[in-house]
Amino acid sequence: MKTQSFQLTTLSQSSLQDYVDCAQRFKLRYLDRLSYPAVETEPALENEKHQQEGEYFHRLVQQHLIGIPAEQIARFANTTNLQRWWENFRNARDLTGLVELSGLYPEATLSAPLGGYRLLAKYDLIAVQNGKATIYDWKTYRKRPRNEWLAARLQTRVYRSLLVHAGAHLNNGKPFEPEQIEMIYWFADFPNEPALFPYTAAQFKRDWDLLLKLSEEIAAAPSYPLTEDRQKCAFCTYRSYCERGIRAGDIEQAETEMDTEELFDVDFEQIGEIAF
Ligand code: SF4
Repeated sequence: MKTQSFQLTTLSQSSLQDYVDCAQRFKLRYLDRLSYPAVETEPALENEKHQQEGEYFHRLVQQHLIGIPAEQIARFANTTNLQRWWENFRNARDLTGLVELSGLYPEATLSAPLGGYRLLAKYDLIAVQNGKATIYDWKTYRKRPRNEWLAARLQTRVYRSLLVHAGAHLNNGKPFEPEQIEMIYWFADFPNEPALFPYTAAQFKRDWDLLLKLSEEIAAAPSYPLTEDRQKCAFCTYRSYCERGIRAGDIEQAETEMDTEELFDVDFEQIGEIAF
């Protein structure tokens, strides 16, 4: 199939993660903008429903954070998953009192130059309190991922470093020091097991150096090879295009046979961010 390539001006954690996971997927998704709707996982309907509920849950939390009373929101949590996630959110030990705080910035979008690109990120919530900025990210994963896996994700590295670069307007015009920043992944199905990632100047330097290097690599890439790790193809929407299999990966089987975190690569947030 012949495709037209677009000029890319922005990068996000999703596009960078795609580039790192499979350069060909990055090309197909962001340069060719090829929609190739192969089913990513089986059973397809159940997973699509889970993704939609996840998106809806994010919207409910956002509405609550901008001041809609919890009782009103609860009426819209009208599926079993949504009810459970909403109750977990309301009762989570680590989120107690959060909505009453001032200095909340739900759905904040930050951007900064990165090499020849603009790096963009949309945050579920940035809470600024007593000189400390906490990044919250809501996850509706079926399994609680390992902290080591989360720490290495581009999302963790982009969100914290970009807040240092582009968050001065949230801190009286002064850039945050890395030590003032923490990122928290909160899991709707594991409400009392959040993953906390404080930040240091050394980590910030390491992260930004990596992001710059990736942006330079992307700008100069002579080709976009297919990943050698065929496990990544089982849940990739382009697998029939790449002739890496027709049938979608089976989520149940994968949960028992594979490194389970691979499943999270098909998280709906990736889809949401392509709009950038
Ligand atoms: S099917 Fe495999 S090789 Fe093709 S884009 Fe997806 S991950 Fe890359």
